[in-house]
Amino acid sequence: MSGRDSGVNAPPKLVFLGPPGAGKGTQGALLAERCGIPKYATGDILREAVQLDSPLGRESKGYMQRGELVPDEVIIGLARNALASPSAKAGFILDGFPRTIGQAEALQAILAESGRTLDAVLYFAVLREELIRRLAGRRVCGDCGAVFNIHSDPPAIETVCDRCNGQLGIREDDEEETVLNRLDVYDENTQPLLAWYRTSSVPVHEIDAGGTVEDVYERLLKAVGCS
Ligand code: AMP
Repeated sequence: MSGRDSGVNAPPKLVFLGPPGAGKGTQGALLAERCGIPKYATGDILREAVQLDSPLGRESKGYMQRGELVPDEVIIGLARNALASPSAKAGFILDGFPRTIGQAEALQAILAESGRTLDAVLYFAVLREELIRRLAGRRVCGDCGAVFNIHSDPPAIETVCDRCNGQLGIREDDEEETVLNRLDVYDENTQPLLAWYRTSSVPVHEIDAGGTVEDVYERLLKAVGCS
């Protein structure tokens, strides 16, 4: 069933669900731009807080370094703030939130307070071996945050950002041991969310997220559009 058939109107209110490395951030940025809606990534918000050494950052840093989930009450507060923004009133993409059933229940309640409901959950499915390869190849610009991949989207010079000439590095939690832990944490905590959403009234679209960015984006647009 396509998104248009399932009644997703412009602009959509979406949750992107899937393991680390599935491409949620990349695809979310493309769709958010096309639809003119904000994308909120709890991981990005937390990384910025860590960089600023704010109380939120200091509270979250250890969990993130170990590849564990930051406690629900912290994350739910973040999401509540983001969703209260006027720009999120009509539509939004949530990337990396919710990650537990507790967070999903809280999201439902937060949206209900303002008479909103989700239009769809997009589940990005990728094989574990591919995720490990992608995460090991990911390079992030320390200055502008641009994301490259040495396998699929390499920068012209291996350690230099094509966009701003900043220094490219490996995200601390993309180191191999942490990656394996993040994938286990995903299987244990976030995978059950998929079953939870499938029993809810929100349509769930499974996207084959293997292959190139362009291929996946094409599949995403077939599932959900905004015009
Ligand atoms: P991400 O960039 O989405 O892979 O998130 C990086 C890290 O931030 C995760 O490994 C968690 O430690 C933390 N994090 C991000 N989003 C959440 C969330 N919804 N619930 C709990 N922890 C989160």
